[in-house]
Amino acid sequence: MSTNMVKLYQPGDKSRAVCPHCAKLVTTTFNYRDVPFDDGSGTVRDILTAVCDECAQIVAVPAQSTPAIRHAREVADISLEVSIPAPEVEILDAAAYRIDPRATTRFRKSLFAYYLSKWQRETGELDRLQEDVRTWLTQRQALSKQIAGIKIPKRRISFKLSPVTNQNVRKIMDRTNLDKTKLMRGVIMMTEREILSDKPGPVIRELQEIAAIVNA
Ligand SMILES: [Zn+2]
Repeated sequence: MSTNMVKLYQPGDKSRAVCPHCAKLVTTTFNYRDVPFDDGSGTVRDILTAVCDECAQIVAVPAQSTPAIRHAREVADISLEVSIPAPEVEILDAAAYRIDPRATTRFRKSLFAYYLSKWQRETGELDRLQEDVRTWLTQRQALSKQIAGIKIPKRRISFKLSPVTNQNVRKIMDRTNLDKTKLMRGVIMMTEREILSDKPGPVIRELQEIAAIVNA
């Protein structure tokens, strides 16, 4: 993870910048203003911005203000919805429980996001994913045949993804030729392998740290 340098501004701080409205270098004062979204679909109230001393319009938004703007914009996020056999969803929830007994179904999304970013870092694992998922699903099918007479219900998993995460999902789908449902089942396969196994790997420690934050 890269660490960006961030200068923290206080209201009333002075700076200099090129004002797009005045088309010249101006002095600016940091003040709270309502900021429109890039796509013009609305505004976020009371965001610390650099305001032009000459025309009183917003010249720049400092780094410390961008998460608040993003959050407001991402309310209209993309939803991911898949339908998965209940026993597989139970694997995911059992893994969540093993990581943190306080975990709720909300942690499903954290597990999904965790493996998504892991696959982006460890592309070797990603290259094997399609084959691994296929083998795993064949085993699951064989297992469900052995329990004839019980109808296995399907369960819907749905959560919102930020535009950036959604883009990553698309990239991984392209690379692996897996659809969203199979990608989710890939995550479930990984949790079974790495978290529910007798000897869970270092992954469980990492996820416990994430859970301590997410479930706080
Ligand atoms: Zn100006």
